[in-house]
Amino acid sequence: MSKKLIVANWKCNPLTLNESIKIFKAINSKYKNPTKAEVVICPPNIFLKNLLALKTKLKIGAQNCFWEEKGAYTGEVSAVMLRNMGCQFVIIGHSERRKINKETNEEINKKIIVALKNKLIPILCIGENREEREHELTFDVLEKQIKEGIANLEKTEIAKIVFAYEPIWSIGSGNSADPEQIKEVKNFIIDLLSKKIGKENISKIKILYGGSVNGENTRAYFTEAEMNGVLVGGASLKPEEFAKIIGAAK
Ligand code: PEP
Repeated sequence: MSKKLIVANWKCNPLTLNESIKIFKAINSKYKNPTKAEVVICPPNIFLKNLLALKTKLKIGAQNCFWEEKGAYTGEVSAVMLRNMGCQFVIIGHSERRKINKETNEEINKKIIVALKNKLIPILCIGENREEREHELTFDVLEKQIKEGIANLEKTEIAKIVFAYEPIWSIGSGNSADPEQIKEVKNFIIDLLSKKIGKENISKIKILYGGSVNGENTRAYFTEAEMNGVLVGGASLKPEEFAKIIGAAK
C-alpha cells in the first residue's frame, strides 16, 4: 500500500505561539512511521516561520493563499511568500472559506493555478452540504466544484492536485461519513478525472477524506474506502488522538 497523506488543518487555533510549538513538537515526537505516512501540518500563517524553523520530519502547509502573487491586496498572503518561507502544501477552497468568505469556484481555480505555478501542492476541498445530499445532488455539486476548480489546467498539473472530499455535514459534527459512502465518491471522482486527464495520469491522483476523522475511524477509510489519506480538523490539535490517526497508516 502506498504512503498515506495525513493533513492537519488547525484552522484558527491555537491562540499562542507557545501552544502551537508544544502541539507541533508533541505530534512530531509521536510520529514513528514516516515510511507509511506523510504528515502535513497547516497552522495559522502567523506560526509558520517558527514551526518551519524546528526542522522536523513534519511537512508544512498553509490554509489558504491569494490568487495574485503580489500587489495592493491588503490582508492577503501570496503563494510566492508561502513557498519562499518553506511551505509545500496549501489548502484551497475549504468549505468554511466557501461559506464564510463566499469563495467561488472561479476564485478557487485562480488560487490553484497560482499555487501550482509556485510549486505548492494544492489540497482542493470539495463537498456537499446536508440539504444537497438529501436532495441527491451530491454528485452534481462535486462535478461542478471539480470541473470549475481545475479549469484552464494541463493534465499533468491536474495530476498534482490533492482532492479532499469533505462532506460539510460531517465537518466538526462527530458525524463521520460511512466508508461505503466515501468509496462511492472516490469512484465518482476517479471516473470524472479519468475523462479529463487520461489513464496515464489517473494513478497519480490522491483523494483524501475529511470530516470528524479520529483515531478510531481512520483505518476504515484507508482499508474499506481505499482513501489515499485524511484531512483532519479538531483531532489534529490533540497529539494523542492525532498520533492514532497517523498510526492507522500501516
Ligand atoms: C476540516 O475542517 O477540514 C475538518 C475535517 O474538520 P473536523 O476533522 O474537525 O471535522
